[in-house]
Amino acid sequence: MGWSNWSGSVSAPAAVMRPRSEDELASLVRGAGKVRAVGAGHSFMPLCESGDLIVDIVDLPGAVRVAADRRSARVPAGWSIKRLTAALWDEGLALANQGDVNPQSLAGAMATGTHGTGVDLGSLSTMARGFRLLGADGETRWCDAATNADLFEAQRLSLGLFGIATEIDVALVPAYHLAERIEKRRWAEVREAYDEWARAQRHVEFWFFPHSDDVIVKTLTPCDPCDPPPTTTDMDETAFRRVLDIAARLPFLTPWLQRAMMKTRFDGRRRGPAHSIFPSDRTLRFEEMEYEMPRAAGIETLAEVVGWIRRKRLPVTFPFEYRAVAADDIWISPMNAGPVAAISMHQYAKMPWRGLFAEAEAIFRAYGGRPHWAKRHTLGRADVEALYPMAGRFGAVRRAADPHGKFLNPHLESLFA
Ligand SMILES: Cc1cc2nc3c(=O)[nH]c(=O)nc-3n(C[C@H](O)[C@H](O)[C@H](O)COP(=O)(O)OP(=O)(O)OC[C@H]3O[C@@H](n4cnc5c(N)ncnc54)[C@H](O)[C@@H]3O)c2cc1C
Repeated sequence: MGWSNWSGSVSAPAAVMRPRSEDELASLVRGAGKVRAVGAGHSFMPLCESGDLIVDIVDLPGAVRVAADRRSARVPAGWSIKRLTAALWDEGLALANQGDVNPQSLAGAMATGTHGTGVDLGSLSTMARGFRLLGADGETRWCDAATNADLFEAQRLSLGLFGIATEIDVALVPAYHLAERIEKRRWAEVREAYDEWARAQRHVEFWFFPHSDDVIVKTLTPCDPCDPPPTTTDMDETAFRRVLDIAARLPFLTPWLQRAMMKTRFDGRRRGPAHSIFPSDRTLRFEEMEYEMPRAAGIETLAEVVGWIRRKRLPVTFPFEYRAVAADDIWISPMNAGPVAAISMHQYAKMPWRGLFAEAEAIFRAYGGRPHWAKRHTLGRADVEALYPMAGRFGAVRRAADPHGKFLNPHLESLFA
């Protein structure tokens, strides 16, 4: 029984071990030549692949321990964001922001810089205050800004290179409600107005099918829990599934199918506890590349990529997703040079994506973009060193923490070893 990631594009022969105690985890790590930790396997890049041992810590015992000031909590690193945010809600607490879905483990999401949308809101990695880490020597140690500070700085966005996180101290905010609004707007309007909307609203993003001039705009606004509930809707994927299945057989129909589909009504409204409104169901498998662009270059980059797809009538069947993320100071975070516009390009998992992503990547790179570490990219070691001034320090901490490369796999070796 091997392992494969969510999209099916990465697999490994290694069996996944699920230790039930930290002692069991330590003896597995000590006994293995190579080890990779896995969360929900939602990364598109081969981050969790291993020819030897893959460990999933979801069965480790643990509980949420809220700090006295209620601004953070120590939580089990392997819990899914879904389980964690439900438990936090019961404590009257929440994460300040979330991504599109919630099956990811907190450790996995932080390890890759997973983010939502919001000009003033950083990725989940920015919410880490400390980690309990099981290292390559099988010993556990704590790291935070005051204790093992270099290890902590590297571990904030770690790609799982420094050990297995078993507990995380995560920054929290008081629980809040959100109202979601989904509506259709014209690309010409969105192109002009997005930056202004993003400054005015806590969360705004849009979805853009490259062959249509209509765009789906999603806004999340904090709201009063006592407001009357709206009709509950989420984006329904039924019509989209039909379109994809036709496009997979007859790719040349993609432009026409997208324009026809976008003629339908899009008008969704939901309201509820924030953690239940952030995530959507993703029932259709796709492959994804995402580049974090300097914020000011975001819209122009998207227009160029979409222009190239239209000119060549390319069968890019999924919409682009466009979000705003705040700057941070994390060593290998793509957000550490300033605020970004995150542009995600997707393709139906049953259709070819490599060639399309490679050409689009050249455009993203030309405009100064840096990739999301969990999503498709073709960076090598020289690119990492050129793009990240702190890569040398990251590498030095990695060599000290893991001198024999226990937590490396071929992909990570090509980037960091
Ligand atoms: C449908 C879908 C929607 C998505 N939506 C978003 C989104 O809105 N925003 C966004 O930014 N990204 C998004 N992603 C990407 C996703 O958030 C990242 O790939 C994230 O890393 C997945 O978490 P995971 O638990 O599945 O981690 P995995 O993919 O299992 O692992 C990711 C990394 O974390 C490491 N890791 C896992 N557990 C541990 C641990 N205990 N200790 C140390 N290291 C560990 C792994 O070794 C690996 O390097 C999405 C992906 C999918 C498939």
